[in-house]
Amino acid sequence: MKKIAYYFLSVVFITSGVFAQNQEQQERKKGHTNTNKFKQLYDEFSTPNMYRAASGAPGVAYYQQQADYKMDIVLDDKNARLSGFETITYTNNSPDVLKYLWVQLDQNQRAKDSKSPLIESSGVAPVLTPSQFANDYIKGPLERGFNIEEVKDTNGKPLKHMINRTMMRVELPKAMKSGDKFSFSIKWWYNINNHVDEGGRSGYEYFPKDGNRAYVIAQFFPRMAVYSDVEGWQNSQFWGRDEFALPFGDYEVNITVPADHILDATGKLLNRKEVFTKTMMDRYERAKKSYTEPVIIVNQAEAEAAEKGFSNQTKTWRFKAENVRDYGFATSRKFIWDMMAVKIGDKDVMAVSMYPKEGNPLWEEWSTKAVASTLETYSRMTFDYPYHKAISVHADQQGMEYPMICWNYGRPDDDGNYSDRTKYGMMGVIIHEVGHNFFPMIVNSDERQWTWMDEGLNTFLQYVAEQDFGEKHPKALSPQHESFPSDRGPAHLIVPYMGGNQDYIAPIMTKGLNTYQFGNNAYGKPATALNILRETVMGRELFDYAFKEYANRWMFKHPTPEDFFRTMEDASAFDLDWFWRGWFYTTDWVDIGIKEVKKYYVSSEPNAYMKEFMKERGISENQLRPLVYMVEEGSEDFKEDMKNQTPSEALSVKEYIMDNFTPEEQKNIKSPKYFYNITFEKPGGLVMPIIVEYTYADGTSKTVTYPAQIWRFNDNEVKKAIASEKEIVSIKVDPNLETADIDTSNNSWPKEVTQSQFDQFKDKING
Ligand SMILES: [Zn+2]
Repeated sequence: MKKIAYYFLSVVFITSGVFAQNQEQQERKKGHTNTNKFKQLYDEFSTPNMYRAASGAPGVAYYQQQADYKMDIVLDDKNARLSGFETITYTNNSPDVLKYLWVQLDQNQRAKDSKSPLIESSGVAPVLTPSQFANDYIKGPLERGFNIEEVKDTNGKPLKHMINRTMMRVELPKAMKSGDKFSFSIKWWYNINNHVDEGGRSGYEYFPKDGNRAYVIAQFFPRMAVYSDVEGWQNSQFWGRDEFALPFGDYEVNITVPADHILDATGKLLNRKEVFTKTMMDRYERAKKSYTEPVIIVNQAEAEAAEKGFSNQTKTWRFKAENVRDYGFATSRKFIWDMMAVKIGDKDVMAVSMYPKEGNPLWEEWSTKAVASTLETYSRMTFDYPYHKAISVHADQQGMEYPMICWNYGRPDDDGNYSDRTKYGMMGVIIHEVGHNFFPMIVNSDERQWTWMDEGLNTFLQYVAEQDFGEKHPKALSPQHESFPSDRGPAHLIVPYMGGNQDYIAPIMTKGLNTYQFGNNAYGKPATALNILRETVMGRELFDYAFKEYANRWMFKHPTPEDFFRTMEDASAFDLDWFWRGWFYTTDWVDIGIKEVKKYYVSSEPNAYMKEFMKERGISENQLRPLVYMVEEGSEDFKEDMKNQTPSEALSVKEYIMDNFTPEEQKNIKSPKYFYNITFEKPGGLVMPIIVEYTYADGTSKTVTYPAQIWRFNDNEVKKAIASEKEIVSIKVDPNLETADIDTSNNSWPKEVTQSQFDQFKDKING
């Protein structure tokens, strides 16, 4: 008898399986390749090797090149011209023989013969500012770009070289073997661009009221390209948008500017006593011991007095920087300067701000505090900030990063008033650009290739740092805000982008130059993906450990996307291939909903399904072992009195069930009255965990998260059987909007009646 019952039970399951299979075979006559969303990323990833390990760590043969610079730089303020003489010492740590070197000439992107304007598709804009109109239609091309006067070896012998737009190939007199060093010098000059009118990531702003310029100078010297195990020479041209790939090195830089200028730069200032007044020295000594409030080194009255000077004398500021990937400086007689100390680990770091009076009162109040707070948050999430200072320079419409120094926007109007938008924008950009010290200045990814590797990771940490800053400085917040109003990071903010027109969305894993909607693609979406990974998928403990591990493994090295992806799994035991594939390699979006909820009750009486089955096969009821039958509410087998019965009351099989429980199990026995068959649907292509909030008739609720792997066999819908002692009155998917679900109209059961915008509008005018 028992055996027969088992036999019939398995027939039930097999027949329904065969039926489904036949139907599928009729619909699909061809086989298919493996498109399972949980397939490992073997096709997308390159094979691990001696340089880069399968764990995501640098491999045993990992190497990186070194480029050391000695430079003498002179600013001609009257003519806005910069000239320099530099000696580069290049060390070939690769196992390869190099016949030539590639040097980046970024200023040529602004040259008369630049091809950058030619690749921009540009129709007639309906509205333009006067300067846009002048630039687009009236002005001829300006004299911009590098003038390379000489390229010589250390004996003064000219070296053969060839310039292809923003890249210069320098022929080596003798091929460099592994371990060789080669020194050569370049003499150059260029006319500095007005970054407000002409654009660019560096240049000057001109202040017509006092006739001064404020210079924020970068990409100003011929810089070595990166040679690596991944790209060979990274000599992809600079078109203006995708940023930079640079090797680490040590810098000795002497910068000569008008004597009445205030200047700060990457590196340690070596001749502070020569360039500081006695008063500035005293204030500086105080700033080194001030941990809560900035100390002013040059105040506004002093800066305003200096604005009128236009000295014909010069001063040379001498700097030395170790292990940096780039160099930047800012100089003007308009600069106000303040500093304070911040403890990072057991070291004091100086948080510094430089700004013209046009930045006040906002800048003297918040810039340096934002710098200090950023260093604290980023150090906690990665590694202790290793440099001795971080400078925030105010430059109109700029947001740009270099080692130890960055340019930031956020300017009050002429009367010193500013909106919340200006204030939070200024704080946000300072946090972001100071944060770039970590990614990509120290964790030195290839920006030319992968914008998201620095912008995405940095924007994610920016969000964490903004929230910290708001907590530490409630006075920085406007009365209507309880926390810092971050504009990137929270999941719901990326919904309009991810749910938008697919013709203008590219996967995150796209070269920076070729992405649509740059900000959303390379900043917003990866930052949100990481925030979701941290808060919803992995949890903070697992995520933070793995993220820190990545930062420490690749500190002062050159990571690739795979090194990041692999490390996050390696350090957490969390298989994330599905997450990387969906969020980084596709443009799929999240949309998970509730398709259907059916209520069931239990019975010992064969239901319609079983009756049909027995009839087909000529089986009588006494051939069956006792079975439990699930009866759907409202079906022909349903009877009203089923509603209030527990299984032990409704079933004749109680003893049979109980006999199979151990005494220990019997203690924990439940008595569910309500049974539900819930069908979740997934119109969106992304697989994500299903976060479900069940609310019961007594007003209590419970949230259950089904891991993303629930979708591994069916990418469209999955079912869950729920047994409950309490009646479920409502079900909500993603109740806290943490998955970036683009359509929440299918997230609730029973369906929430949402007013159409027209109805809301009618209510408004009627009410
Ligand atoms: Zn950035």
